Amino acid sequence: VAENDQQKKSLQLLVDFYKTGDLKIFDDYSIEWVHDTASSIDVVNGFIEVYLDAIGKKGSFQSMVSMKDKEATKRIAAIAAKAQWFEDNSPLMPEHKKKQVKGITAKAITTIVESGDDAPSTPIGVNLPNADWIRKEYGSKSVSLSNIIHSYNVNSSKSGMLDEFVIDETVKNRLKKYGALASDLHTDMHECIGHASGQINPGVETPDKTLKNYASCLEEARADLVGLYYIMDKKLVEIGVSESEEVGKAGYDQYMMNGLMTQLTRLKPGEKLEEAHMRNRQLNARWVFEKGKQDKVVELVKVNDKTYVRINDYNKLRVLFGQLLREIQRIKSEGDYKAATALVETYGVQVDPVLHKEIIGRYATLGIKPYRGFIQPVLEPVMEGDKIIDVKVTYPTSFFQQMMDYKKKYSFLPILN
Ligand SMILES: [Zn+2]
Repeated sequence: VAENDQQKKSLQLLVDFYKTGDLKIFDDYSIEWVHDTASSIDVVNGFIEVYLDAIGKKGSFQSMVSMKDKEATKRIAAIAAKAQWFEDNSPLMPEHKKKQVKGITAKAITTIVESGDDAPSTPIGVNLPNADWIRKEYGSKSVSLSNIIHSYNVNSSKSGMLDEFVIDETVKNRLKKYGALASDLHTDMHECIGHASGQINPGVETPDKTLKNYASCLEEARADLVGLYYIMDKKLVEIGVSESEEVGKAGYDQYMMNGLMTQLTRLKPGEKLEEAHMRNRQLNARWVFEKGKQDKVVELVKVNDKTYVRINDYNKLRVLFGQLLREIQRIKSEGDYKAATALVETYGVQVDPVLHKEIIGRYATLGIKPYRGFIQPVLEPVMEGDKIIDVKVTYPTSFFQQMMDYKKKYSFLPILN
């Protein structure tokens, strides 16, 4: 069963690989898989990621069946299509803007079933194949798992986090209404136009050589800032991907609350920020907080001994995000390691121990687990003769029962080899 000839060709190679174990065939399969862009049903299947192997050699098995999310893919395409407009209107110094920028097109998928290393805890984005030579010669597929991201967002809005950490009803209602769309749009802009924006001055080497250990933190900060700068822009409403500037405000509420406070829940007392994304989020949030202090653009206020973030001026906050974007692009374009060090070390590394203690104390009362897993749906074909005419989807409610069913049906390998 295949959707078209290209998909048939790639699946046939995958079968051949499983029969022979020949890695050359797996490469051939990966190339054909990259070429299959037309199918609406797609599959990731193989011994792929090496995260769990200490020496990073052995791939563990994963499988994911998915369906194209046409709406979300349209949204990403609409943003990518305007990449040049975003570049031309950005707050970067003119010499750091790309004359010709190409948005990175990605697709969004609805995950249907996952197994192996993709379940029960799942990735939210996939960018494959891993082999660099295939990526260079044949390209790669970049997808975001939109139904997974959606359910994380819905789950977070019900987790009690908003009640505990949001300052008032206005902000809380805005986050409930627009929080999910705001985070989708921010991620889309981060990926499609953020990383693609800007250029390095002639004669300056790439950031991994010039900015060294700060390169990836500042690259993520830069891509985040492109998203933050434009999430408040009317252009998004004009191109039909956002409803109003309330979405942008929800994006700022989310980002500032996370960057100044709630991401600290992942650290133990006494720890500093080490991970690039966490550093970049605090760097961005702390920098605009400090620079806007005099005008009270953003405040940390205490109500009944609890600290909250209050944004007083969303438009000024946008201007500050723009200024920081311009500065980080300058650092990248010029390869200014000294300024990179000062920026990250001043704003992105240190944790306020008093605030940290308060935040983890409040988080502990919510009883939320740091990782979440998913139960897989059960798919049953509806047959008419030997043709599948429909598929019935049911959702089991017990994870334990699902594991026992899998054991019964899919224990093909002997326990002892
Ligand atoms: Zn990124």
